[in-house]
Amino acid sequence: MRINVAQQLKGFLGSSRSYTIDEITEEGYPIKAQVKLVRTNRSILVTGQLKTIVNSTCSRCLKEFEQPMELKIEEEYFPARDMLTGMPTPMIEDMDGFVIGEDHILDLSEAVRQNILLNLSTKPVCWPECAGLCNRCGHNLNQGACHCPEESFDPRWSPLREMLEIRKRGFENYATSTKKKNIKESSGNKEQSPKLCPS
Ligand SMILES: [Zn+2]
Ligand SMILES: [Zn+2]
Repeated sequence: MRINVAQQLKGFLGSSRSYTIDEITEEGYPIKAQVKLVRTNRSILVTGQLKTIVNSTCSRCLKEFEQPMELKIEEEYFPARDMLTGMPTPMIEDMDGFVIGEDHILDLSEAVRQNILLNLSTKPVCWPECAGLCNRCGHNLNQGACHCPEESFDPRWSPLREMLEIRKRGFENYATSTKKKNIKESSGNKEQSPKLCPS
């Protein structure tokens, strides 16, 4: 992703060149991109579309999968030296971008790497409907249900569970709810009961 821009830096303002990129980065990302380089009064502005594939681990089922990613890039590259005078380019206050080295090579690698990292999902999923793993036996629920009993849960949490169910149905039923009886029954051991227990 190294492009020699010596000629373009000597060229007129507004000149533009297009490049097709098809290579693999040092980090192993396969990159296919179309970029346009435009000579501005102070820099080379790079814009383009980039496609790559990122190896991810599903945050629900832990499966490794390949995630296609499409990115837009827009980065400004400032020449280290003025092409005509050979003098170091004076620092411009809003110089927010990358530097074109003394060899006149505009290297897109770092910009591409940063753009990919910014777009990585913190919770990737192998597909939107991924059912994940059973949190009791670890069975992959995408392959069908496991044999864990559905109602198996730590009885100490039952008061909280009942409260949530009651809240779902609305508080008007609270006083007459038969669930209240269950709460009292299941909270016999006060020391183990969560504080939310209403009794
Ligand atoms: Zn998954
Ligand atoms: Zn299970």
